[in-house]
Amino acid sequence: MPDVPGPTSNAPAVSSQADGVRTTCPYCGVGCGVVVDSDAAGAWRVRGDQDHPANFGRLCSKGSALGETLGDTGRLLYPEIDGQRVSWDRALNTVADGIARVRDRHGPEAIAFYLSGQLLTEDYYVANKLMKGFLGSANVDTNSRLCMASSVAGHRRAFGADLVPGCYEDLDLADLIVLVGSNAAWCHPFLFQRMVANRNRRGARIVVIDPRRTATAAEADLHLAIRPGSDTALFNGLLVHLADYGALDDAFIDASTREIGLALNAARADAGSIDAVASKTGLPIEQVHAFFDAFACTERSVSCYSQGVHQSIAGTDKVNAIINCHLATGRIGRPGMGPFSLTGQPNAMGGREVGGLANQLAAHMGFAPDEVDRVRRFWNAPSMATHEGLKAVDLFEAIAVGKIRALWVMATNPAFSLPRADAMRDALGELEVFGASDCVASNDTIDRAAIRLPAFAWGEKDGTVTNSERRISRQRAFRDPPGEARPDWWIVSQVAHRLGFGEAFNYESPAAIFREHAALTAFENDEARDLDLGGLTALCDQTYENLAPVQWPVRAGSGDGIARMTADGHFFTDHGKARFVPVTTLQAQDRRFTLNTGRIRDQWHTMTRTGTTARLCRHIAEPFVEIHPDDAADIGLEHGALARIRSNHGEAIVRAVVGAEQRKGSLFAPIHWSDANSGSGRIGALVHGLTDPISGQPDSKATSVSLTTVQCAYHGFILSANPIAVNAAVYWSRAPVRHGFATTFALAAAPPGGWRAWLKDLLGASGGDILELANWERQVYRSAVVVDDRLSACCFVSSEPVPPARDWLEEMLAVDVLDADTRRALLFGRATDDFESPGQIVCACFGVGENTIDNAITNGALSSAEDIGTALKAGTNCGSCIPELRRLLSLDVDAKRRDSVTV
Ligand code: SF4
Repeated sequence: MPDVPGPTSNAPAVSSQADGVRTTCPYCGVGCGVVVDSDAAGAWRVRGDQDHPANFGRLCSKGSALGETLGDTGRLLYPEIDGQRVSWDRALNTVADGIARVRDRHGPEAIAFYLSGQLLTEDYYVANKLMKGFLGSANVDTNSRLCMASSVAGHRRAFGADLVPGCYEDLDLADLIVLVGSNAAWCHPFLFQRMVANRNRRGARIVVIDPRRTATAAEADLHLAIRPGSDTALFNGLLVHLADYGALDDAFIDASTREIGLALNAARADAGSIDAVASKTGLPIEQVHAFFDAFACTERSVSCYSQGVHQSIAGTDKVNAIINCHLATGRIGRPGMGPFSLTGQPNAMGGREVGGLANQLAAHMGFAPDEVDRVRRFWNAPSMATHEGLKAVDLFEAIAVGKIRALWVMATNPAFSLPRADAMRDALGELEVFGASDCVASNDTIDRAAIRLPAFAWGEKDGTVTNSERRISRQRAFRDPPGEARPDWWIVSQVAHRLGFGEAFNYESPAAIFREHAALTAFENDEARDLDLGGLTALCDQTYENLAPVQWPVRAGSGDGIARMTADGHFFTDHGKARFVPVTTLQAQDRRFTLNTGRIRDQWHTMTRTGTTARLCRHIAEPFVEIHPDDAADIGLEHGALARIRSNHGEAIVRAVVGAEQRKGSLFAPIHWSDANSGSGRIGALVHGLTDPISGQPDSKATSVSLTTVQCAYHGFILSANPIAVNAAVYWSRAPVRHGFATTFALAAAPPGGWRAWLKDLLGASGGDILELANWERQVYRSAVVVDDRLSACCFVSSEPVPPARDWLEEMLAVDVLDADTRRALLFGRATDDFESPGQIVCACFGVGENTIDNAITNGALSSAEDIGTALKAGTNCGSCIPELRRLLSLDVDAKRRDSVTV
C-alpha cells in the first residue's frame, strides 16, 4: 500500500454506462472523440464518438487501434530512486529536497521543468504555477516547442495573441483549401477526410505546397513541389499578385489592420514578379500562375499549415507570410476562410493556454509588468518569474554547460526527440537532480533519471485537452491504473506541499484545477484578452464531469463557445488591429543532401503505444530513408538496400526507399524508431541544433547530411515468440507481428561461432529441436526452433534481402502442435496448404493487404477506390489509405515500390 494517500483512480464503473465512457483520442491535435467500453471477455473496445464535433464518429487507423494498445507491459509501476523501489513519500521528498537544495545554492534559474503535449491542461496548469509563481523561474518548456511554436509566435505578431481564428467547419465550407507543409492525409487523417469530402460534395479545390509528393499531395488538384524553404517567397509573391490584380480587401485593411505598406514593400523586394517567384521556388511559371489566380479569385479560402512550415529557422516568418495574404484579402474569421495552424499533439493547445511555453506566463499572458503583477495577485504568489525562461533547445544546452542543475521531465522523451539527440542525452548526465514522471518504465530519458515517478497513462487520466480549433474536450478515465501510478497534477501538488506551498496547491480533483484555470483567464479580462473561460469558472464537479466539447472563448454569462474569432475585425494588439509582418526569404544553402524528418501514417511519436500492435506495424515495418531515383543512381543505392545517413551530429542506418515522390537533393526519414526497436534508426540524433530565432522551434526539416550505401554479407529476419535485439548487427529493427515479433537484420560477416550458436544465444534458447537448412555456396541459412511441438522461432539468412512468405510463418507461431509436413515446410517458408498471404497491409483499419487488393482488382475488375471499398471495406473507415489504393489501381510500378518498405 502506498504510504501517501492520493487518488488512484477516477475510473467510473464502465459497466454502469450503457454506451461506454466518452473521452478523447490521445494522439494528434485533431482531438477526435472516442467512446470506450469492454466486451464480455474484458477487452477494451474503442469507437468514434458520433456526437463529437471534431470527428462525428470516425477515427483514423491509429485511433481505431487504441483498444489494442492498453496493456500494462512496460509500465512504470512504483516510484524508484536509483533503480530501487521506494515509497511515494520518499520519492516526493527527494524531488522536493533536490529542488530546494539547487534553488538555495544556485538560484531559481538553475531549475527547469520539461513538459509534454500529452499532459492534460490541469497537469500543465499546476506544473506551470509551481515553477513560475512559487519557484521564481520561467524555465518551463514543452515538447510542443518542437511542434507548433512558430505558429504561436506568428499569431502573437499578427493578432496580438495566440489565437486560431477559424474552426474545422471552415474546411467543410471552403472553396479552396491550401495545405502548406502538411501531410494531413497521414498526420491529421480525419481532418483531411473532411477536406476530401468537401471536394467530393461541393467541388472545393485542394492545393498542396510541399517539396515531397506525399499521400496528401497525391490527392491534390494542384501540387506545388517547391524548393525546400521557399514558402515565404511563394506567399510574398502571392501578396504582390493580390495587390497588383486588385484582389485586396481595402475596407478590411483600413478598418482592421496596420502596416500593409511595409509588408508589401518587403514582399516586392523579395519576390516581386512571377518570374522571381518561379526562380526562388523552383516551380514552373504556369503552376505559380494557377495557384495565384485560384487564391485571388476564391473568397472562401483556408490555408492550413503544419510542421513543414513550423520546423524551420524561418518558421515564424513563413507563418506570417501566409497570414499576410489572408489579412490582405480580409479572409479571416468568416465561414470557409482563414489561416489555420494544425497542431500535432493532443493537448499542444491546452499547454499554450496555461503557460506551458517558457515565453508565456499563463492564460495567454506574457511577461509585461502588468501581466506579471496580475498573475501574482491572482495566485498570491511569493516568487513570480519576471522574464521569459529558456526554450527547449536552449534549456538543454544550459544543462550541458551546468547552468541548469535540476530537471523534472514529465510525460516525454527529450533525449530522443530533441535535435542533436545524442548530445542532449549525454547532457542529462550533468544534472545534480534529475526526476522523470512517466507511464513507461524505460526510454532514452527516464533510463537516466535518478528519481522515477509512475504517472497515469491514457485511459486513467481525467481532465481536459484542447484541439486545433480551440475546442476543449474532456479526457475521462475508464480503467484503473496499475501499481502505484498517480496523476501528474497530484504528483506536482505533492511536491509543492513539501516545498512549503501547500495552501496554494490543495487541489482535490482536476475539476478544482480547471475552475482555477478558468478563473485566471477571466481575471481582469473584460474581453481584452482572447482566452476567456469566464463562463466555466463555476462548474460544479458533476457539470465538469459531464462537460460537452466547447470552443473557447466562453465568456461570463455564456455557456457557449465561439466558433470563429476576429469576425468583427477586432484583434488583441494594443491598437486592436491586426499587424502585417514584413518578411523575406532566407537564402537556401547549397547542400548535397538535405534531410527532412517527419511522421508516417500509422505511428505516433516514439511508438510506445502504436508500436505495440501488429496491425499498425504492417504498413511500414522498418525505419527508412526516401530518396529520388536520380540521386540513388548517382550514389549506387538500390531500393531496399541499406543506407547510412550521416550528419555532423550523428548517424543512422536505415532501409532505402527509392521513389520519384522525393525531390532531388532531399531525403525524408521518419522520426519514430528508437534504440528500443532498432539498432540505428534514431533519426533525432542527426538533426542539427538550429532554431527559429523568434519562436525557438528547431529546424528539423533541413539538416545537411551525406548518404552512402551500406554493404552487408548477410541479410535476414527472425520470427520469434518473444522480442529480441540483434545488438552486434550492422542493422536491425523489430516490429510486433500477429503472434510474436519480426526482427530484420544485416551482418557484415557470418557469426564466428556459427549460425546455430549465434541464434541460440540471441534467443536465450536452451532446449527444443533445431531444424536447419544451409546452402553455403549461395550463402543461405535457415533454421526453426521447435519447443514442445510449438514454433518458438525461425531464422532466414541470405546474401540478399529476399523474403519468404512471412504471413504464413507468422501464423505458424500460433499452432499448438506442428506436424512433420509443416516442420519441413517451415524451412522453405512456404505454406503446406492454400494459405494466401494478404501481403503488406495497406488498410490498417480493416487489415487488408496489398496482395488481397491486387487480386481483387484483377479478378473483380475493380476500377476505383470506391469499388475496392465496396468489395473489401479497405479505405471506408478513416480513408487515409485511399491514395495508396489509387496507386495500386494505377499499376504504377514506381509507386508500388514506394510502399514496399519491408523487404
Ligand atoms: Fe486520433 Fe486519428 Fe483523430 Fe488524430 S485523426 S485524434 S490520431 S483518431
